[in-house]
Amino acid sequence: MDPDSKLALDAFKNDEEPHISIRQEICKGCAQKYCLYICPGGLYSINEETGELLNEYTGCLECSSCRVSCPYGALEWNYPRGGFGVQYRYG
Ligand code: SF4
Ligand code: SF4
Repeated sequence: MDPDSKLALDAFKNDEEPHISIRQEICKGCAQKYCLYICPGGLYSINEETGELLNEYTGCLECSSCRVSCPYGALEWNYPRGGFGVQYRYG
């Protein structure tokens, strides 16, 4: 089974409260934008109109790669509250 098919098996219970927050003032000055490339879920993108960094936290796999990859400390990252977040299923 390919990785995308395995990821599609995962279930998410979404919290209204984002567990990742972005300090846009830092991201504005970041040329590398590592987070766009490191996230296995492809959850980061740039708003073409405003230039802001976006994160689709509801699909987060809780791998923490984005936090580790950001050299500027622009991400505040916590696990989702109890009962929320990803539920891994293996097929
Ligand atoms: S989160 Fe970090 S790596 Fe991503 S755009 Fe912001 S400063 Fe750059
Ligand atoms: S924790 Fe992992 S899956 Fe979640 S946004 Fe960061 S890199 Fe993407």
